[in-house]
Amino acid sequence: MEIVFATGNLHKLQEINEISKGSGIEFVLPDEGFNPVENGQTFEENSYIKAKEANRVSGKMSLADDSGLCVEALNGAPGLYSARYAGTQQEKIDKILKELAPFKNRKAKFVCVMTLLGEDGSVLHVSRGECYGEISKSQSGQNGFGFDPVFVVDDTGKTMAEMSEEEKNNISHRSRALSDMLTFINSSVV
Ligand code: IMP
Repeated sequence: MEIVFATGNLHKLQEINEISKGSGIEFVLPDEGFNPVENGQTFEENSYIKAKEANRVSGKMSLADDSGLCVEALNGAPGLYSARYAGTQQEKIDKILKELAPFKNRKAKFVCVMTLLGEDGSVLHVSRGECYGEISKSQSGQNGFGFDPVFVVDDTGKTMAEMSEEEKNNISHRSRALSDMLTFINSSVV
């Protein structure tokens, strides 16, 4: 079974195909013209906007995720704006380390919300996954993407970038949201 995954981020597509390996579902990129305007006020709204746009261009069942890093001392920022927080991945990491320098509280969480739309564009299911940790004082690790090198996962002592793909997929916000989604798909759609 093929479901369109509403992203332009190949890394995310690869991650969710890896997580759902063996489920009989393959996620594929949207058709050309996919260009969502992410102007929602919540992760839920933005994941709906992306799923709707993928459904519009592809006419197929579509899944979208919207995710971000929420830092307690920064009142939940960068949150919804994580993707636009700074230019390159390295610039994002440098900026978060600089902004957090004055704070003792370095608690943070990754959030991922997924929305699944049917072929006719109706909402079939929404799921949410969170992963708790802390922002480290310096970056470490080469794997993953985004803020992975500065996000130390609770109870592991490792940044997400120090984890293998399999380790990250066992605990990540995205895998938690996806596992709930796959349970829904297997029980209601397939
Ligand atoms: P979006 O969900 O594509 O809008 O992007 C969310 C942004 O949050 C990404 O560009 C990353 O900066 C950050 N982010 C989301 N998930 C992860 C993750 O698993 N690791 C590191 N950064 C992430």
